[in-house]
Amino acid sequence: MANDDTETGEERDAQLARLVLALRSQGVTDPAVLAAIESTPRELFTPDLFKERAFEDSALPIACGQTISQPFIVGLMSQALQVEPRSRVLEIGTGSGYQTTILSKLARLVYTVERYRTLMGEAEARFKQLGLTNIVTRFGDGGLGWPEQAPFDRILVTAAAPDAPKALLSQLKPSGILVAPVGKGPVQKLIRYLGDGNGVFRAEVMTEVRFVPLLPGVAKEP
Ligand code: SAH
Repeated sequence: MANDDTETGEERDAQLARLVLALRSQGVTDPAVLAAIESTPRELFTPDLFKERAFEDSALPIACGQTISQPFIVGLMSQALQVEPRSRVLEIGTGSGYQTTILSKLARLVYTVERYRTLMGEAEARFKQLGLTNIVTRFGDGGLGWPEQAPFDRILVTAAAPDAPKALLSQLKPSGILVAPVGKGPVQKLIRYLGDGNGVFRAEVMTEVRFVPLLPGVAKEP
């Protein structure tokens, strides 16, 4: 008779496999992105209260009133970013570190910025636990980007910018790609900016999304 742990582990693997199939049927077909999602234990990134729901295709609350993004959106954004194995990627809004982990499996190096010290610390502990060594973290205002490390091949913003993120676009290589939710309300447009090689960026609206806002400055915490 299988013991409980085995059954739980099998059920978990089956749930994750179902999630990956669901993402594929919704258009996330990039094999590298799907492999990154399949090899990332999302339950490690969700609060205890929501661990059973880690493989549902939904956003879930994390500490500091923030959210871990919906797996479909993580897949869609990662695929749209067209990350290459040599890419240096900047991510704004580390949150739980789930999206960062997916990017770290696709890119050479990921720089990630978070304005909550608590979230940054928890994400750093997860990266360490998973043995991820190609992630560089910074506690700060990601709206300003990371000028010292610019230019980047790719930039992913995981909080909603009120307008086109000009400061971040200026830190992108001329042929780079930036993906960001843009808009002031509760529903924003997911936009992909594609560089033409001369520093002109064409904006493509991908879909509608709901992200927490990109806020200025660092968060004050007790
Ligand atoms: N990618 C994350 C989603 C986190 S939600 C995940 O997979 O879990 C968006 C995150 O952006 C929040 O943690 C929020 O604190 C952060 N954020 C908002 N404005 C920011 C800013 N100006 N600089 C850095 N992080 C910011």
